[in-house]
Order: sequence, then C-alpha cells, then structure tokens
Amino acid sequence: MGSGNQLFVVGIGPGSLAGMSRQAYQILQQVDIIIGYKTYIKLIEELISGNQEVYLSGMRQEKERAVKAIQMAEQGKKVAVISSGDPGVYGMAGLILELIDKGNYKVDVEIIAGITAANAAAALLGAPLMHDYAVISLSDILTPWEVIKKRLTGAAAADFITVLYNPRSSRRVEQIKAAQKIFLNQRVADTPVGIVRQIGRSEEEKRITNLANMPVEEIDMLTTVIIGNSQTYLSADKMITPRGYRL
Ligand code: SAH
Repeated sequence: MGSGNQLFVVGIGPGSLAGMSRQAYQILQQVDIIIGYKTYIKLIEELISGNQEVYLSGMRQEKERAVKAIQMAEQGKKVAVISSGDPGVYGMAGLILELIDKGNYKVDVEIIAGITAANAAAALLGAPLMHDYAVISLSDILTPWEVIKKRLTGAAAADFITVLYNPRSSRRVEQIKAAQKIFLNQRVADTPVGIVRQIGRSEEEKRITNLANMPVEEIDMLTTVIIGNSQTYLSADKMITPRGYRL
C-alpha cells in the first residue's frame, strides 16, 4: 500500500523544454513544489506557475535538497525534484531512494525518465552508439580514481564505445588526459571522438576529432565525450558505428 505522499523525481532532458517528455511536463505543472539546482530551474522556468513553490539549491547540495524534498512530501505536499538528463544517470533518483530506504520515510517515489546526455550527444554526432557502449564518469568526488581507471581500462580493452560524463573541471584536469592515454593503448590514434557541449541550450557546440588530437583544454563539465569503438568511422560530419549489417 502506498503512503499517499508523492515525490516525483523528474528528468528534464539535456537542456530545453523541447527535449523533455510529455509526462515530465505534465507532472511539473501539477505539483505544489519544485526543487532543483538553480541552473535547471532556469531551464524550465516558463512552465512554472505563480502558485507553485520553487526551492533553488546550489551545486554539491544534493543531499540537503533530497532530504528537504522527502520531508515536504511526507507532510502531504506534491513535490517534484528535477534532475538534468535522466534522474537515474548520475542524478537524484538513487540518492532519494537510498535516503528513504535508510530513513524509513513514508513517501512514494515515482521516477520519470529523461533523455540522458549520452543519447542526446549521440544524436547530434550521428549514430556512434549503435553497438555496445559503456558510460563512465570521470569525477572522483564519490568514486575512487583507481576504480575509474579500472573501468576505463576494461571498457577500452573490451572495445566498448565509451561515453565520458564529468570529463574535466577547472580543478580536475588530469583525468581526461589519463583516459585518453588508456584508450590510446587499445585503439588506433584516429579513432573518432565526438565532443558535445551545452546540448539543447543556445550555447550548444559539437566537434568531431580523434583520439590522438582530442582538444582536452576545450573540455569542461558541460561537455560529453564519446570515444568510438574499433569500427566507428566518419562520413562527412557524422560519426557512425556499424551495427553489423551486410550492405
Ligand atoms: N543526469 C545527467 C548527468 C549528470 S552528470 C544526465 O542524465 O545527462 C553531469 C555530466 O553530464 C556533465 O559533466 C556532462 O558530462 C553531462 N551533461 C549533462 N548535461 C549536458 C548537456 N546539456 N550537454 C553536454 N553534456 C551534458
């Protein structure tokens, strides 16, 4: 039996309202309270009405944001926490479920999927994810670097197309170079690499390069990087990973 208290964790897609599901849109219009990181609230601003409460939070305040949302839902308010992309991909969904599990809160959670950066980036680049792929976050804030390195090495060796999230920040500049080196040990220098920034926003930019020439300085936290597998090739400005059809 449900508790009757509802908390929605809503994926808003990578950037614009157009990239959000109809279900996400409807839920955001119908809740009493919307909580999210301020940049994301800005992205959905025009669908928020005057009688909804909005709580903004800063970066790195995920836990406070999640606890606040759970407590307000427990008091009977209809609450939505927004997450960019998909809430279950390095987003708020897991944290909220963990906190409810540990804290025995009486709240029913519904998670609304969104388009994650990997898929939005892939669509802009062509069709790079047509075969098996791995998604790896280079952020070592919550994951030890040793573990990340092991996964990079494994993905490179197993010829997975690899999508890198959180590739580089102003403070964390070495990981992307280390990742490049790991992949160069397993793949040829001209393996196609797609770099996409600020997907779905007015500043959106994309670039196709290769493993040896990746412009690491241009990569930041608003960037998603896709490294092709051994079969990925370029045709005009599109990255294509063959599925294996005989043509
Ligand atoms: N939940 C999000 C991911 C959060 S982790 C999702 O499903 O997309 C944050 C990382 O996601 C960023 O460092 C970047 O690598 C990627 N990312 C998120 N939004 C992006 C966007 N609009 N353009 C490019 N990369 C993005």
